[in-house]
Amino acid sequence: MRQVSTPLVATRARRDVATVRQDFPVLSGTANGRPLVYLDNAATSQKPRAVIESLVRFYQTENANIHRGVHELSQRATLAYEAARAKLQRFLNAGDPHEVIFVRGATEAINLVASSFGRIRFRPGDEVVVSAMEHHSNLVPWQIACEIAGARLRVIPMSDAGELDLDALRDMLGDRTRLVAVVHVSNSLGTINPVTEIVRMAHDAGAPVLVDGAQAAPHMPIDVQELDADFYALSGHKMFGPTGIGVLYGKAKLLEAMPPYQGGGEMIRSVTFEKTTYAPLPAKFEAGTPHIAGAIGLGAAVDYLRGLSWEWIQHHEHDLLEYATEQLRFVPGLRIVGTAARKAAVISFVLEGVHAHDIGTILDQSGIAIRTGHHCTQPVMDRLGIPATARASFAFYNTREEVDALVRGVQEVRAVFG
Ligand SMILES: *Cc1c(COP(=O)(O)O)cnc(C)c1O
Repeated sequence: MRQVSTPLVATRARRDVATVRQDFPVLSGTANGRPLVYLDNAATSQKPRAVIESLVRFYQTENANIHRGVHELSQRATLAYEAARAKLQRFLNAGDPHEVIFVRGATEAINLVASSFGRIRFRPGDEVVVSAMEHHSNLVPWQIACEIAGARLRVIPMSDAGELDLDALRDMLGDRTRLVAVVHVSNSLGTINPVTEIVRMAHDAGAPVLVDGAQAAPHMPIDVQELDADFYALSGHKMFGPTGIGVLYGKAKLLEAMPPYQGGGEMIRSVTFEKTTYAPLPAKFEAGTPHIAGAIGLGAAVDYLRGLSWEWIQHHEHDLLEYATEQLRFVPGLRIVGTAARKAAVISFVLEGVHAHDIGTILDQSGIAIRTGHHCTQPVMDRLGIPATARASFAFYNTREEVDALVRGVQEVRAVFG
């Protein structure tokens, strides 16, 4: 990971956030007649005007199907789609654009690997390692692949604070380990996992690593080569892009050895009833007409991110996290769930004597959008012995004033329930 060393002064950061907010039309709207306070960014992020306009522009001026067309419009659409791939390559610092596969989202990226890689590599008695804090999207596909192959799922345990036990991982890794799949940033706890170290440990044991980066991409720069990740999954809608688009990064030599995930148009070299041969990367894994506009919109989202600075984003989000953590501690009976030393700006909490759902409903009346429930991480809730949490998740466009609104809202909930 590229690290941040020089934080900017807070006054500058707050001045910038006002400007940045103007890029997101929805943020100046209302909810339940109150100014919207959007703190549900881990479920989906808002979209800057540049992304929204890129979708409109594509449909208004370039819409055509890609790759097969000889006509001008199809060629323009193809160029725009492939330019988006190159943008994602740069965003991830992948070695080659062919290592960037456009998929439907992080869920499909992981299913692709579980299905295709699992088919050639998982055998009875083999082991696949996941962690105790995986999103269901990085758990259920491996359960399915293990069941098909007769392989076994192993789980890296975590502490009460929400930190993975790397000693336990070390003991788990061995010559039966076929793959390690781990989340970069936990959507329910905010934990930033030491993925560089996990990759190194797994590689020492000869196992490739898939990193679920759905929650990392909106908060920090990613360098798949420095990380040496074998696979990396991105979700477009979590990183200010459209829904229905995402990326699977994979090392070329692994992707080349893997069989197709879906059959259909565009992924073939030649088709006869006797034998079909497959197209080279990335087309082999992009059967059918892709979400062309979505890919272009995701390209616009990473362009937008490049126009900000990661130093500023990380400094500002860290400030929001610290400030919110500090302020929420004043609410009687409130306990923050997930207190890892390295956290992204995600705060899960429980309030003694109050169902998480009621917290969400009452805050909603004040225009404050948070998420309540298990956040697609039921095993995390089981591990911590709680049914659900309320979760406020921040993006770089959130403000200290919005944290104040959240804290006031939770104080009101506290007052209602005594
Ligand atoms: C949202 C999320 C996913 C699923 O991503 P989609 O693109 O919505 O399929 C996977 N993992 C984590 C950690 C997530 O937060």
